[in-house]
Amino acid sequence: MNPVIVHACPPSDTPHIPVAIVGAGACGLVAALVLAGAGIDCVVLERDAAPAGSTALSSGFIPAPDTRVQKTRGISDNAAQFAADIQAKAKGTAAPLLVQAYAQAIGPALDLLEEKHGLQFELLQGFLYPGHSALRMHAVPEKTGAGLMTRLQRAADAASVPVLTNALVCELWVGEDGVLTGLGYQRPDGTLERLACAVLLLACNGFGGNPALVRELLPEMRDAIFAGHTGNDGSAIRWGRALGARLADLGGYQGHGSWVVPQGILMSWAVMVEGGMQLNNKGLRFHDETQGYSEAAVAVLAQPGGVAWNVFDERLLALARSFPDFCVAEEAGALHRADNRAALAALIGCAEADLSPDLARLAAPYFAVRVTGALFHTQGGLDIDAKCRVLREDGQVFANLLAAGGAARGVSGNAVWGYLSGNGLLSAIAGGYIAAHTAQAILETTA
Ligand SMILES: Cc1cc2nc3c(=O)[nH]c(=O)nc-3n(C[C@H](O)[C@H](O)[C@H](O)COP(=O)(O)OP(=O)(O)OC[C@H]3O[C@@H](n4cnc5c(N)ncnc54)[C@H](O)[C@@H]3O)c2cc1C
Repeated sequence: MNPVIVHACPPSDTPHIPVAIVGAGACGLVAALVLAGAGIDCVVLERDAAPAGSTALSSGFIPAPDTRVQKTRGISDNAAQFAADIQAKAKGTAAPLLVQAYAQAIGPALDLLEEKHGLQFELLQGFLYPGHSALRMHAVPEKTGAGLMTRLQRAADAASVPVLTNALVCELWVGEDGVLTGLGYQRPDGTLERLACAVLLLACNGFGGNPALVRELLPEMRDAIFAGHTGNDGSAIRWGRALGARLADLGGYQGHGSWVVPQGILMSWAVMVEGGMQLNNKGLRFHDETQGYSEAAVAVLAQPGGVAWNVFDERLLALARSFPDFCVAEEAGALHRADNRAALAALIGCAEADLSPDLARLAAPYFAVRVTGALFHTQGGLDIDAKCRVLREDGQVFANLLAAGGAARGVSGNAVWGYLSGNGLLSAIAGGYIAAHTAQAILETTA
């Protein structure tokens, strides 16, 4: 699909909606729920027959300070501390105003989803993801992105939010003054329908599913498996380029160094954080696993065959089994047991004498899972201000064009190592929440 810009206003008999939202992932649905709560009509347009997006493929872990859940647990945390953690991981290269805005908005966003829309969040306990200085990772009780999406969809249904599925947005309409006037979307039978709008929010995620854009913008990941949703086709970036929008942090992305092969399932990095290790086919450790799973993707891909083994012991196996994804991987035959060093060496394919001396910190029997490095989602995109308004190349804002989630620049800076775990859903949920408030403000000033 080639995104098109039409320089005109839609015909006067085109149906009109105050806010049109492209994409029904976490970002789009959260924005729609906030708008519905404010009594503002919107339509969410979704290319798929059922909303899922990368959100449904994700682990669904959302970092947030100062939430009701955190307070109930007596955890001391706040937005400034969270913002400092985000910037520390990105070595100070993340967009400061966006970091601040998202760190402040995510707590109220999760609380609102609980209070007004019936979602339930729990805190992941027992370990800290690299770079987080407090227990702040939230998840729905299922601890999966699919569970999160199901609950968001249920909330959208309850709030009577219209989600138009099988609607692939392929045109943006722009008036002479650069104001967005509407959009066109294609139905599965090829027919084109149109919608005029007062505010447009792009919540259609990034470009990880567009191999040409990955080759152009993330050459180090050109051969990596993309584990996200195929709808991440880079539409937002291509529209942005055509509109003269500024793009930012295009080298930023979430990689993952623990993508189970050949099963194609995520194995949680918690096992590495708590003492597991990655060995290559020669039996050697090749990086510091505690730095983070994102940059680990590059390190794993640089090993012979582009693979590594996650090696751990019985204590860590119990932790691994607390993650639904791991249980699926185990059922699919990904878990290998080695009763001693010799058996582990035979499994990995190296000489016993070559096994890393660090193995001594684990107790036999050993467990191992074969993994590769994967691209999860891109963190660069349309440059936005702290209100999620898209910026032009000269830094001025588009009057009524908003972007958030994976469609916009994130808070990870311009490289793989800047990704603090949870930055993806942070951008999607906090961004959707902020964008909805901005849409409301635009409608109020133009009424
Ligand atoms: C395996 C995996 C695990 C992850 N785990 C985590 C995690 O635990 N925590 C975290 O923070 N992040 C995680 N992420 C990243 C996270 O999934 C994303 O950052 C987040 O889901 C982005 O949300 P979104 O709403 O912007 O995009 P999406 O959820 O992808 O939604 C975008 C929607 O837009 C639709 N769309 C696209 N183009 C169009 C169009 N032209 N017309 C109409 N519809 C369109 C798509 O079909 C899609 O439904 C993970 C990612 C992967 C792949």
